[in-house]
Amino acid sequence: MENVDLKNLSENRTFIEDVFKKKIRSVELAGWVHNIRDLSKVRFIILKDMTGMIQIAGVKGKTSEGVFSEMDKISRESVIVVKGSVVDSKQAPGGKEINPEEIIVLNSADELPIDIPFNSGEDSKTELPKRLDYRFLDLHRKKTQAIFKVQATLMQGFREYMVSRKGVEANFPSIISSSSEGGTELFKAKYFEKDVYLSQSCQLYKQMLACSMERVFTIFTVWRAEKHNTVRHLNESRQFDFEMAFADEFVVMDELAKCVQHMVGMVIEKNQSDLELLGIKLKVPTVKYMTFAETNELLEKEGIKTDAHDLTGIGEKKLGELFPDTIVFVHDWPLKGKPFYIMPKGKDLSCGFDAIYKGMEITSGGQRVHLPELLKERLKVKDLDPKDFKSYIDSFRYGAPPHAGWGMGVERLTMVLLELSNIREAVMFPRDRDRLTP
Ligand code: ATP
Ligand code: MG
Repeated sequence: MENVDLKNLSENRTFIEDVFKKKIRSVELAGWVHNIRDLSKVRFIILKDMTGMIQIAGVKGKTSEGVFSEMDKISRESVIVVKGSVVDSKQAPGGKEINPEEIIVLNSADELPIDIPFNSGEDSKTELPKRLDYRFLDLHRKKTQAIFKVQATLMQGFREYMVSRKGVEANFPSIISSSSEGGTELFKAKYFEKDVYLSQSCQLYKQMLACSMERVFTIFTVWRAEKHNTVRHLNESRQFDFEMAFADEFVVMDELAKCVQHMVGMVIEKNQSDLELLGIKLKVPTVKYMTFAETNELLEKEGIKTDAHDLTGIGEKKLGELFPDTIVFVHDWPLKGKPFYIMPKGKDLSCGFDAIYKGMEITSGGQRVHLPELLKERLKVKDLDPKDFKSYIDSFRYGAPPHAGWGMGVERLTMVLLELSNIREAVMFPRDRDRLTP
């Protein structure tokens, strides 16, 4: 490798955005070669770093001969350091370019296996599976980066909102001894002499914790051994989880609405250029409440076939069309369609809800059963054995307040907000039935 003092480089290099924002004459830039153009007498390199892109212009006869000939040999996406001076230029994007005095190649890139369009706003011509095979290179694309910058803001916004509401951030185990909820298929693993499972949700743990610390939240990784391959499901995904004591489903729906509004508001404020690159116009959502019965009635009127215990994908899509930029809370959900830990409301209904946003479920939640005897009864109705849930049931015997909460998919929300056609676009390194690398 070229002899570069990395400590000095990290301390003294200039970020590209600062070249445009500040009055700087002499710079040392580091980054990736986005594009090269050779007009024989003039050679251009478009250099990118995490803050932007800038043109490096070498002119025959003016730029030193060594540097000028070096510019011809550099391949796209190679990593280079450029020392030079900043000059104003009407033709250059952003009105400034760099006259190079020295170019050091830190690592030369091989021929690119996937399409990285010159125009950052353009989609790659390479199909998604191949892009995911080379995800580390796909992440050189500004458009891919934009997705994950938005996702980072969503996570920051979630934490910020929760902390402002006295929430305590928590961590939970990912290895469990038996199914926490029933329903979903779990991944089995070996744990010394025993069989264990990867967690499908932190549901039971966050409930136990809310019963002492009142308001708890986490960003938790979950694993679901769903065999189907859909564009909205992953086998490993992350969830924004929240649980709150002394609350019913309406209290936590309100918290969810305010939380998502805060998160989206923050994206609009912080990620304007990322949204522009992705061609997305975001609005802070408004909120609508409907019972499950009202929702199905409305959907039937729209000519959509409904299900008695769940919303269909087509139904969710229709709600997105009828109520754009709105979080639609569908509550008073049929008891049969919700898990055992959701509090019943009368004989057939429950204190469970789903939130539909831009045509897709983003959240499920509700008030939980905090009464041990009722919990046993609910387990039996769902054909689950209360003996398998003894420690969970017992946790509510020593002072458990009524409580409620929800879980919202991190990738699902990102997908919905950025109108991505496949959830795999919203996870850096997806795990689905066929993919375990990179
Ligand atoms: P869906 O009906 O969309 O399959 P679900 O009702 O099975 O979801 P929940 O158990 O309610 O999912 O999980 C809470 C949230 O986590 C969902 O609303 C969704 O945002 C997200 N989520 C659930 N399953 C997945 C998955 N397999 N991949 C990615 N996100 C998921
Ligand atoms: Mg759900």
